Amino acid sequence: TERTLVLVKPDAVERRLTGEVLRRVEAKGYRLVALELRTATADLLDEHYAEHRGKPFFSPLVEFMMSGPLVAAVVEGERVIEGFRSLAGATDPTVAAPGTVRGDLGRDWGTTVVQNLVHGSDSAESAAREIGLWFPGL
Ligand code: ATP
Repeated sequence: TERTLVLVKPDAVERRLTGEVLRRVEAKGYRLVALELRTATADLLDEHYAEHRGKPFFSPLVEFMMSGPLVAAVVEGERVIEGFRSLAGATDPTVAAPGTVRGDLGRDWGTTVVQNLVHGSDSAESAAREIGLWFPGL
């Protein structure tokens, strides 16, 4: 079995979509193994988004991710990394497929950073790294 890090981003929490996102995760058959509402620090986000350091949207991205509380979760199941990314949909919510979280619930709000409701680890290596960052006890 496999684990992934899921973030319900501050835009989703602000819009009261936390339950809807977690409902979809559980309805697909995955299990929550850790779950926490928290406000991320700049240091944590700098590590989390290390691959984007130096990009023009990096600092707006970190600001956005600190703009309010987010929900961090570790989700478990067979092929959950792929499975959650499939649930989440494409990065750009304007064109994300209907049926996905981003396609059903997201859109362009005219902001510098794409506000796309959720994050999910993109590989086994990222998942291990991100889970270690957000839930060092696990
Ligand atoms: P995530 O990692 O959040 O699940 P992703 O893998 O589809 O989504 P990444 O390429 O890792 O996206 O980018 C991280 C986040 O940075 C995106 O989810 C989005 O919020 C923002 N972002 C990515 N590319 C851009 C861009 N070109 N302009 C503005 N914001 C962006």
